[in-house]
Amino acid sequence: MTGWMIIPPSDEKCPICAVEHHVDNPHDATTFYYRVLFKNQHGREATWNDAMLHCPEEIREDWTERLTKVGIDVNSPQVFGDIKSQEELDQRLAT
Ligand SMILES: [Zn+2]
Repeated sequence: MTGWMIIPPSDEKCPICAVEHHVDNPHDATTFYYRVLFKNQHGREATWNDAMLHCPEEIREDWTERLTKVGIDVNSPQVFGDIKSQEELDQRLAT
């Protein structure tokens, strides 16, 4: 084993996080692809703040607000916070 084998994402997907998203929106900090790539490049775990660095300020503020609302710290590498399931996330978003 010499290291992670990473297959590059297809053309329509973001080359950084392997998810389809608008260029102004954050990378998906939860994808395996993003996390491995980031760690290789920066030598530490990625946070939501890292995934949002390229975004316009109002989008960053909006995402920070929404992530904070569901209990996720944008400066923490725990990109799911303490959320353990999709149901739990949906519940928090609904309240
Ligand atoms: Zn991306």
